[in-house]
Amino acid sequence: MNVTIWYNANLVTMDSEKDYEIIERGALVIEQNKIAWLGEEKALPKYYQKEATYINAKNRFITPGLIDCHTHLVYAGNRARDFENRLKGKTYSQIAHEGGGIHDTISQTRAASFDDLYDLSLSRVHEMIQNGVTTIEIKSGYGQDFDTELKQLKVIEKLKQSLPLTFIATYLGAHLLPNEFVSNRQYLDFCIKQVMPELHSMSLIDMVDGFCENMAFKAQELEPYYLKAREYGLPIKLHAEQFSEAGACALAAQLKAVSVDHLEYLSEENVALLKKNDITAVILPGAYYFLNETQKPPIPTLTQQGVPIAIATDCNPGTSPTTSMLLMLNMACVLWGLTPLQALQGATIYAAKALGLSDRKGRLKVGYDADVVCWKISHPNELSYFLGSSLCEKVMANGCMVYEKN
Ligand SMILES: [Zn+2]
Repeated sequence: MNVTIWYNANLVTMDSEKDYEIIERGALVIEQNKIAWLGEEKALPKYYQKEATYINAKNRFITPGLIDCHTHLVYAGNRARDFENRLKGKTYSQIAHEGGGIHDTISQTRAASFDDLYDLSLSRVHEMIQNGVTTIEIKSGYGQDFDTELKQLKVIEKLKQSLPLTFIATYLGAHLLPNEFVSNRQYLDFCIKQVMPELHSMSLIDMVDGFCENMAFKAQELEPYYLKAREYGLPIKLHAEQFSEAGACALAAQLKAVSVDHLEYLSEENVALLKKNDITAVILPGAYYFLNETQKPPIPTLTQQGVPIAIATDCNPGTSPTTSMLLMLNMACVLWGLTPLQALQGATIYAAKALGLSDRKGRLKVGYDADVVCWKISHPNELSYFLGSSLCEKVMANGCMVYEKN
């Protein structure tokens, strides 16, 4: 029997939708890769104490591992040149015309070798781990051709095999119209008839996502693409209402999507639709900040109506070049008015929900996966408060220690 006991810890269990649910002077028992027991240290059953490995948390705070439920971290190159050009006053179309923008990321990702793409992705994952992240959703979508989508998903597959973290691989074929195709319909047909079936048959897809936006794919156009995903029993996510109201929420409700993501232009009626269909709202403050947007998602209405709100980095080279979940928690509070409790829920219980993992992740709870982070803080609200501090001391993912600060 392989038993590890964290002791001398304040356990922020998140095992309620109302509060942090802190157990002071607590102990947490890990057996194999699951949480076997937690409670006050003085109540620790003797049964576990024989032959256990002990970790002294030194009266620090322990939370469930953070969950980054929306990233595009498998890419090559970066867009710092675009960033500089934008600040020099160039428009998006000028930047695109000069070879920048998302098509630049696509050509660099297509050109990168598998090993280079894996190394780039792995170093981003390591940055995330050092910020307390133990579960990461990663999308394809910088290939838009068969070979590169396959390469991206194989990189995610190798991450799954190489690290004890939990990864969710999402096929984002419907990201944008690649230059080789003349119409959305022609391209989506290619995704539906060739790419998705082949990648699914190789068991490389856990979820399916699409960019539903007037300037990208309209809800109507995406319907057959998502119906194909449904046919395979794959859970569905949508990039929705980021730059306009494009009917994404109605489609999400119709398809029983697990989440809709972005939501700056989410209307009041659609908030009710999310609630009614138990769809998680994933908000991405990094992209809003980086693009210097002004239209905010309707957080007060979402909160009032009790829609679960998850927060993610959206890690991508064009609109959110960050790997820091803690920075996202701070932005969600400062820019959009979430409370620190809501922000931490957004990175734990509701992020788990956005990935369909509520029954095993996002809480410190018996039977749940042993994803555990030890922080140098004196209250969990400090996770949203400090700006860019390095607060993380130890990270355990599925029962394996993956980071320890020197
Ligand atoms: Zn995204």
